[in-house]
Amino acid sequence: MQKKDMLYEGKAKKLYTTEDKQKMIMEFKDDATAFDGEKKASLQKKGKLNTEISMIFFELLEAENISTHYLEKLSDNEMLVEKMDIFPLEVVVRNIVAGSLAERTGLAEGTELEEEVIEFFYKSDELGDPLLNSEHIKLLELADKEELAEIRSKAREINNVLQQFLAEAGIDLVDFKLEFGRTDQEEIKLADEITPDTCRLWDVSTGKKLDKDRFRQEMGGVMAGYEEILKRIKKEK
Ligand code: ADP
Ligand code: UDP
Repeated sequence: MQKKDMLYEGKAKKLYTTEDKQKMIMEFKDDATAFDGEKKASLQKKGKLNTEISMIFFELLEAENISTHYLEKLSDNEMLVEKMDIFPLEVVVRNIVAGSLAERTGLAEGTELEEEVIEFFYKSDELGDPLLNSEHIKLLELADKEELAEIRSKAREINNVLQQFLAEAGIDLVDFKLEFGRTDQEEIKLADEITPDTCRLWDVSTGKKLDKDRFRQEMGGVMAGYEEILKRIKKEK
């Protein structure tokens, strides 16, 4: 499948059209950003690592009958995906308190949640991706009631599959961000990526952070963390 026009360049990925209107090529860049793009860097091999990690997670979910936009891996840093109409929502699933949940609630980082917490953020750079509740989502017509219920239930299922798989690899799935879209046939599927850019992943025994927080918090060894994740999930595959 050949790349045609670049449809979109985001902070971490580029999207290209192909000769098939329903398929797109997603290219993972080495660029890393944090704090609304204020902190920027290029991390060698990030695109390649994220492509492979995302592919493993998408294939795992497909094997569990959870539909995703993933079609096939095309190269080190490119995958073919189904073109979707993306809901402008970042769906965050949390199992352990960290990041903005700790800031918003005062709960200590590392507190285990009895039941997962699902949050929705409005994908709007202009507004700074604010937290939304279901009434706001209805008000803004970002998804209807049935769609939102389906997104919630898929997010829970994905969490169950990933949490168990990662536990076997000695990794705690602290929290992660998902994006969903609609196909031409109005089917809701998981889109975008699942990578250490979009998940918090801690070593089960030491609590060591193996994800993008190493970049956000200037901890060093960012790519070593991503390599460690890949090595462990490849073994569990
Ligand atoms: P950002 O837009 O936040 O800078 P990225 O660099 O990750 O993020 O850009 C990828 C963009 O591609 C996101 O806006 C995402 O919603 C969109 N996207 C992901 N999967 C699909 C898909 N299957 N079809 C259409 N758009 C997609
Ligand atoms: N996340 C993401 N993209 C965003 C914001 C958050 O992938 O634009 C992920 C983040 O990596 C973490 C989870 O969503 O795994 C929850 O993030 P949080 O709300 O704590 O925000 P943060 O403090 O990381 O900005």
